[in-house]
Amino acid sequence: MRQGDKYGLHRVIEPAGVMPQAAWKIDNEMVCYDNEILIDVDVLNIDSASFTQIRREAQDDPKQVKDIMERIVGERGKHHNPVTGSGGMLIGRVQEMGEKIRNRTDVQVGDEIATLVSLSLTPLAIEEIRDIDMKNAQVHVKAKAILFESGIFAKLPSDLPRRVALAVFDVCGAPAQTARLVKESNSVVILGAGGKSGMTVLRQARLAAGNGKVIAVEYGEAACERLRGLGWADEVLNLDATKPADVLAAVENALGGGLADVVINCVNVEHTEMSSILCAKDRGTVYFFSMATSFTAAALGAEGVGKDVDMVIGNGYCLGHAELALDLLRESPELRQVFEQKFAAMA
Ligand code: NAP
Repeated sequence: MRQGDKYGLHRVIEPAGVMPQAAWKIDNEMVCYDNEILIDVDVLNIDSASFTQIRREAQDDPKQVKDIMERIVGERGKHHNPVTGSGGMLIGRVQEMGEKIRNRTDVQVGDEIATLVSLSLTPLAIEEIRDIDMKNAQVHVKAKAILFESGIFAKLPSDLPRRVALAVFDVCGAPAQTARLVKESNSVVILGAGGKSGMTVLRQARLAAGNGKVIAVEYGEAACERLRGLGWADEVLNLDATKPADVLAAVENALGGGLADVVINCVNVEHTEMSSILCAKDRGTVYFFSMATSFTAAALGAEGVGKDVDMVIGNGYCLGHAELALDLLRESPELRQVFEQKFAAMA
């Protein structure tokens, strides 16, 4: 059996010497190296920023979405959107485990798992795209994938429908980082609060901030009404997060002339950096979970308006993130219901 590198370096084709995530192309031959896990894939959860871009390029035509997805994987050996740079994740069943890792106790052949590493570094070979859920970015496939030795994963919980669990796992870094950043009595602003990550962040922020003020920003009245119905935000503002001056004025008003200790960006479109930065008070924190964030726009934008804020990149991983996110759904029947209504029908 062939020997593999812990981080999957043996799969990198070009450019040589980079990590699999940074590589333009990786080897997606579905032969298990001695330290790899081969997965029989069932569903891909495409990252929201990536899927939004693909839908736009495909003019919302599912056939063209399928063609674009096949083209990406065909060219790169992974579902790594060349425009957004982002991936997504998958669920599937363990088909084979390499010789060196066969005696691992945390996973066995036959287990159903969700990968918690990005599709942007996961070797993937798609045989057939069976069905595309255009609204929720979940794609039913016949495919195989490889998980490297360093790759993290979670077993699917028995108390939640699998597509609900997949959707939660996709964004589980966001509420977990929120738990670290938001302190009792903090004022918090969440942009894109009506989306998957946004709602989990909103719930976690409500729990962590206590009597602090939590402001939810979402675009569209229907989504705002849904958020008001949940009752977790002190105020829900219907705003376009790409319009920083409007967002700043409305948030300042909602916070009685003040600004937020913590701003969390969960939007799935570009050009929302300045709305996030302007809403944070000096020495406050801006957490960019959004994959549509531009480092340049955020760094130069903050400097340009003289804002001394700490900006946190949305690392998708932090210790215990999957369990924390699942527990949020278990703790909150309302949150669970929203996710089930959105995803469980497809399970
Ligand atoms: P989602 O469910 O699609 O939520 C995005 C939300 O933003 C939606 O409610 C959307 O409203 C709202 N929105 C869109 N345009 C807006 C605007 N101009 N102003 C205000 N709100 C707007 O996406 P998600 O799965 O939660 O993901 C959110 C972001 O996190 C994406 O950028 C995704 O790529 C990123 N992400 C990051 C990681 C990581 O590891 N850092 C992991 C997963 C996802 P509509 O539904 O009405 O459009």
